[in-house]
Parts: sequence; C-alpha cells; structure tokens
Amino acid sequence: MPYAYDDQNIFARILRGEIPNDTVLETEHTLAFNDIQPQAPVHVLVIPRGPYVCYDHFAAEASEAEIVDFVRATAEICRMTGVGPGDGGDGYRVVANTGKNGVQDVPHFHLHILGGRLLGPMLPKT
Ligand code: AMP
Repeated sequence: MPYAYDDQNIFARILRGEIPNDTVLETEHTLAFNDIQPQAPVHVLVIPRGPYVCYDHFAAEASEAEIVDFVRATAEICRMTGVGPGDGGDGYRVVANTGKNGVQDVPHFHLHILGGRLLGPMLPKT
C-alpha cells in the first residue's frame, strides 16, 4: 500500500507556520525544534520539510539532498546541544517511532534526539 500523507498533521502545520515552535535549527530541507513535552533535558524533534510519513518512507523516497541535509542536521543538533561524544557529551538516543506498533502519534516522519540524563534501558521488560 502506498504511503498516505495527511497534510493536516501538526508537524505539517508547524512547517506551514500555522503553529509556533521552539526552533533549534533550520536548514534547506530540515527543521528541528524542542519537543513540547520533553522526556529528557535534551529532547529535540528533527523533521524533513518534505511530506514523508515515517522513517522507511523517507529513506526510500527522499532525494539524496534531503537525506544528506537531514542527517547532517542531526549531527549539528548533537553538537549544539552538547550530547555528542565527539564534543565531550555523555551520549544520547535517537528514536523514530513508526506506525501502530511503534506508537507513532504524529504521521510526519520525525526523529527524537534525547539526552542530558541517563536514559535507562531501551525498552521496558514485558
Ligand atoms: P511520536 O509519538 O513519536 O509521534 O511523537 C510525537 C511527539 O511530538 C511527542 O513527543 C509530542 O510531545 C510532540 N509534539 C506534539 N505536538 C507538538 C508541538 N506542537 N510542538 C512540539 N512537539 C510536539
């Protein structure tokens, strides 16, 4: 089934300037902003400007320019927020919740960059 993008999702509205955001970084193809309900001292959402639903959609269909811009933007955010080990930081976690089983709330691809505290195990034990 093809990916169906809902252009009324909240991140699409942020990209159109209809809803404010706490911007961390803007590039040609990428926007990063602080999560409105942070789960760690550093909790940045990184989104492509293009209409991609989820990680695999972006990875399959985005242009090389979009992908390179997005990946480099994540590196810049790690540097800016001081979480990257290359800059002396204590590390971070990148999360891309996807679909029903991944418990994705907003259907516009986004990475969570989480850091600034010990994050604990990746998943709770079931
Ligand atoms: P997910 O469950 O991976 O889709 O995560 C969606 C994230 O978007 C959650 O962590 C929300 O707190 C965050 N969020 C929702 N609305 C906004 C907003 N207007 N500005 C910033 N973050 C938001």
